[in-house]
Amino acid sequence: MLEILFLLLPIAAGYGWYMGRRSIRQSDSQKSKKLSRDYFTGLNFLLSNESDKAVDLFISMLDVDDETIDTHLSLGSLFRKRGEVDRSIRIHQNLIARPSLTNDQRDIAMMELGKDYMAAGFYDRAEEIFINLVSQDEHSEEAETQLILIYQVTKEWQNAIDITKRLPRKRQQALKCTTAHFYCQLADEAQNDNDKIKKLQQAIKQDAKCGRAWLTLAKIYLDAGQFDLCKHAISELKTADIDLFADAIATAKQVYRDTQDPDGYQELLAKAIAEGAGASVTVALAEHKISVNQHQSAETMMLDSLYRHPTMKGFQHLMKLHIKQAEDGQAKQSLSMLEQLVEQQIKFRPSYRCTACGFPSHGLYWHCPSCKQWGSIKRIKGLDGE
Ligand SMILES: [Zn+2]
Repeated sequence: MLEILFLLLPIAAGYGWYMGRRSIRQSDSQKSKKLSRDYFTGLNFLLSNESDKAVDLFISMLDVDDETIDTHLSLGSLFRKRGEVDRSIRIHQNLIARPSLTNDQRDIAMMELGKDYMAAGFYDRAEEIFINLVSQDEHSEEAETQLILIYQVTKEWQNAIDITKRLPRKRQQALKCTTAHFYCQLADEAQNDNDKIKKLQQAIKQDAKCGRAWLTLAKIYLDAGQFDLCKHAISELKTADIDLFADAIATAKQVYRDTQDPDGYQELLAKAIAEGAGASVTVALAEHKISVNQHQSAETMMLDSLYRHPTMKGFQHLMKLHIKQAEDGQAKQSLSMLEQLVEQQIKFRPSYRCTACGFPSHGLYWHCPSCKQWGSIKRIKGLDGE
């Protein structure tokens, strides 16, 4: 509240002075008296700690003309950012009602009013305003961007896609990851596998690096028993987004088990590790080696990996290997206790983090709940992660 009062005080004081001077010149003493009265009433409100009333009064004192329109717009935007949307709506509606506004000024005020409605959750009213503004050349791109935001909240994915198609080519390129996720959302909502696959293929057409589409395709093909297509999708995922490969381990393990191809599975994991897949994939490969009685190879690989990229996950798995081989006794008990402590620490810490805003999470979200970016949440790298 304080910064608004600081913003308003000089305006109110300056305006009082200006109106006083002007009214003397124009002999408009009536208006001057009213303004002075309003100004002192406002000051009284301030002094008696009724700052809400003071703000409202000062706003009503501001006449709308070419010189003050920017002040109105700044105030409106400030109120919206502070969550006082009812005030920003009032300011912008007040602006739009003035017949003296030019068309461009009215469009700017409408854009702001649309944003107020969005902030207040009146999406239908905001949508109506932005649809009208889309036809105004100077404001169409901003209005389209706002419409895309609305359709994400209301989960109208096809509408969001249709709007992105109208954007200039450069903006479309910048939004290709987002658009691909819209197609993935449509795939999630589709009723049958054929429709799902079509939408996912459209997602890949938009953004060849959309790992989510390849990951979902791999799962659909596995469930449908189309093992070759499933393996192909996993391999494409590895090329498209190596960070996401760890999330495909369960699907990969299943498909290579169903096709009785343990060597193929081992080769796939080894390739993924060479291409930069993290500690989870190394642990999966070590577990696989142990299951085919390659204990020594598993241990050497874990040690080698820990030397190059020390991680808590790798360290815990190496301890597990040692516990299995240790003879019963005090040393084995201590090692087990230590391993459990490390496991608890790993569980306690988040595994994923948004690369855009830093939001930490234990699960994989496609849409960051904090900064609302698509595909920005990745597995954490470094000692605590991959
Ligand atoms: Zn984020």
